[in-house]
Amino acid sequence: MDYYKNSLNALHYLFDKTGILFWRDKIESHIKEWEYDGTTKNHLNCYGGMGTLNDIIICPENKHNITKNQQTWVNTLFDDLKILCLVTARNNNSITPILIQKSLRQTPKKIQGWRCLNCGFSLLRMSDIEYYLAPTLLSEPVIRALFNETLIELIGNVLRVNIERKDEEISKIISIAQNSEISFNDISSWMRPCPNCQSNDTAVYRWVINSSAEERIFVPAEDNLPLRN
Ligand SMILES: [Zn+2]
Repeated sequence: MDYYKNSLNALHYLFDKTGILFWRDKIESHIKEWEYDGTTKNHLNCYGGMGTLNDIIICPENKHNITKNQQTWVNTLFDDLKILCLVTARNNNSITPILIQKSLRQTPKKIQGWRCLNCGFSLLRMSDIEYYLAPTLLSEPVIRALFNETLIELIGNVLRVNIERKDEEISKIISIAQNSEISFNDISSWMRPCPNCQSNDTAVYRWVINSSAEERIFVPAEDNLPLRN
């Protein structure tokens, strides 16, 4: 199976669907190069540094063909596809699920939301929860799609935000948040002012899951700004 070519085709398809035509055409030239003489050099030069693949954020602000609802899922998939292209460019003949799994982004250790430093009010937004869950929820489908040659189908599902286990995993996070006295709200803006005390003294805040507790709860991570009192 030509994992590298399939991965490039998938990236090409994602760029086509999201209207990133400069990069779609560049990837097309890498596919032709691979078919012509089996080289990956020009593709491997597209990672790291300014103006490379790692610089791209797929979002409406950049005039890409995408909505806010799709953004976290599509960008996480984009990260995964770049990793597939990179790993298969280097090891096309020795690709295993374990190798791919080790290379994909792991579950973030911390979930990030907002906190009022004045009164302690805590908030997770839907986008915060999605950002936390997306690497975990996509990694297994990505690996499966690579080996089943169904990456294009997976991209279609992700563009429709049709993600396996998404709703149940979001519910679990919301219930852990409730157990941890963290509110949930589906707003897209910053939490400023605080909805509880109206103070503007709010900040991005991070929590980690404490699994040793009787029920799983979020506890503040160590790198947060301190509460004022
Ligand atoms: Zn407050």
